[in-house]
Amino acid sequence: MRGAGSGHYEHRERLSVRFFPFREVTPNSNCLMCSQPPTPHDDSWLIDEAYQIATHMRTSPELLGFSGGEPLLLGKRLREVFETFIRQHPATELDILTNGRLLADDTFADQLLSGLNKRISWMVPLYGHADFLHDFVVQKHGAFEETITGLLNLHERRQAIQLRTVLIRPVLESLPSFCEFIGKNLPFVREVSLMACEPVGFALANRELSDLDLRDWQNELVTSIRTLERAQINVILMNTPLCALPSELWKYAHKSISDWKRKFEPECSTCSVKDDCSGIFSWYNKRKQAMQVQRIEGVVHV
Ligand code: SF4
Repeated sequence: MRGAGSGHYEHRERLSVRFFPFREVTPNSNCLMCSQPPTPHDDSWLIDEAYQIATHMRTSPELLGFSGGEPLLLGKRLREVFETFIRQHPATELDILTNGRLLADDTFADQLLSGLNKRISWMVPLYGHADFLHDFVVQKHGAFEETITGLLNLHERRQAIQLRTVLIRPVLESLPSFCEFIGKNLPFVREVSLMACEPVGFALANRELSDLDLRDWQNELVTSIRTLERAQINVILMNTPLCALPSELWKYAHKSISDWKRKFEPECSTCSVKDDCSGIFSWYNKRKQAMQVQRIEGVVHV
């Protein structure tokens, strides 16, 4: 795995536990390109299942990921889940994918993190430098303010943070300003992950915003990554096939698409950089999508 610029972030295969709390019937964010739209099912039984899993796992994984839905909607029960896994698997690193909004509440942030004998990695999506942009992408008024306050509360409680942003059209249009904002206001984040959009779920219903070829946005990407580097913030690119990027950005790209949902097109078989490439999502359809894979020829060093 290549390094992330000057960073130390490593993408690792991980055992993942997913939670879909009951209140997902009324989610507190509704992102335009959500790859797993909420369903009207009560999945709260998965919490008890998680306790069982923690107890019965024979070996401790290196890393365990929690996502949803929105895990923070579990409220105090999330603390119990953390404590269960920390007790049963003390050496396992934990990360959690959350919109961070509920962490704007100091009391809840304390209930969740105060005295917890573990530093958790928080993967928090942020889609812009201003409320109109972030709130539009997540389709919730007030989300930007809450997420920023949540991020500050995480920092105050010495948590590790990865900011995540999905590269859809409105995000890319403001990406350089967004990265300036991060450098000035959120310099404490461990890294920023810029992610190509997964062509599934709500992204298919919002093609005009989500279906694009990153080759058309090279200037924005290069400028933005340079800005983050100047601010000494690590950057990673996820879900981005190398042929969609200028070669100067290849060093930031990670093979982040899980094996079970990754594929390569026939033209990839003779591509010089296939071994270093993330490939494309299994649901990519070259007849319907703007981005086309383009075999890279010759001897190339990634
Ligand atoms: S042609 Fe295929 S293997 Fe080569 S960079 Fe593009 S997606 Fe990756």
